Amino acid sequence: MRFHRIFPVLLLVGFSLAFASCTKDIYRQNNKAHKKSVKQTTGLIQEIPKTKAELDYDTLSITDEWVGTTNFSLRKPNYVIIHHTAQDSLVQTIQTFTVPRTQVSSHYVIGRDGKIVQMLNDYLRSWHAGKGRWGNDTDLNSASIGIELDNNGREPFTSVQIESLLVLLERLKWKYGIPTANFIGHSDIAPSRKTDPSIYFPWKRLAEEGFGLWYDEEVVFPVLTAQDSIAIPIENTDSLPSNTLDPVLALRIIGYDVSDEKAAIRSFKLHFIQRDIESALTETDKRILDNLYKKYL
Ligand SMILES: [Zn+2]
Repeated sequence: MRFHRIFPVLLLVGFSLAFASCTKDIYRQNNKAHKKSVKQTTGLIQEIPKTKAELDYDTLSITDEWVGTTNFSLRKPNYVIIHHTAQDSLVQTIQTFTVPRTQVSSHYVIGRDGKIVQMLNDYLRSWHAGKGRWGNDTDLNSASIGIELDNNGREPFTSVQIESLLVLLERLKWKYGIPTANFIGHSDIAPSRKTDPSIYFPWKRLAEEGFGLWYDEEVVFPVLTAQDSIAIPIENTDSLPSNTLDPVLALRIIGYDVSDEKAAIRSFKLHFIQRDIESALTETDKRILDNLYKKYL
């Protein structure tokens, strides 16, 4: 092969090698910075609380004498919060989570191909939840594991991605004893700010596998269940059995922040109804809500 033919090939190979080593270098530097931060954080928990005598100010909350107990362990995550990245690739998301200026991260990122990348030890606090509330917990970052699914928000999630997610959830649930009800979405904890994961996220499938709660379809849609071969519009089912349902109270019992009622309804619909999320609660939605909130009592 003449040089003028081989030259572009050499150039391409050279460029690829340079790019690969450059990418490697970026992660090497990043991982070094990560280790330094972990060391600083570890230093915090190695500090021995100061006694009153050692402090230059007086307060009743500090004891005179330090006595260390031998009985303790690390605090554990008690929630899993699921997101979609709203980005176009796994590489792009990893880049976002390794640049200090973004101030965002998550414990795990799962690619469209099912590849799982862990970016932080489960015991450390990642910055994925932001300002939010679930029940009376207002610091979800401290209490949760964040999982980001590579997805732009306008497309279905791939089946391999969901299969990987289920494997990861199984491990987390087993390892930390996370309650079934505590597998939730970002939009659930931040109704007025977030709409991820999108309407395409298979919450019902997750609930069937033991991650998150779901309503009893045979109770909510008795007509459909009895005649499931006939397509009956669900809006035509019986009206709500209980006229006493207070939707806002029910949403609050589930865990939603109802300070913005419209946003809370949208987040509820995004998770459990997955259509017409911007509209008010229909009779069917109320039937679902009525069945569901009792599971959270
Ligand atoms: Zn999110």
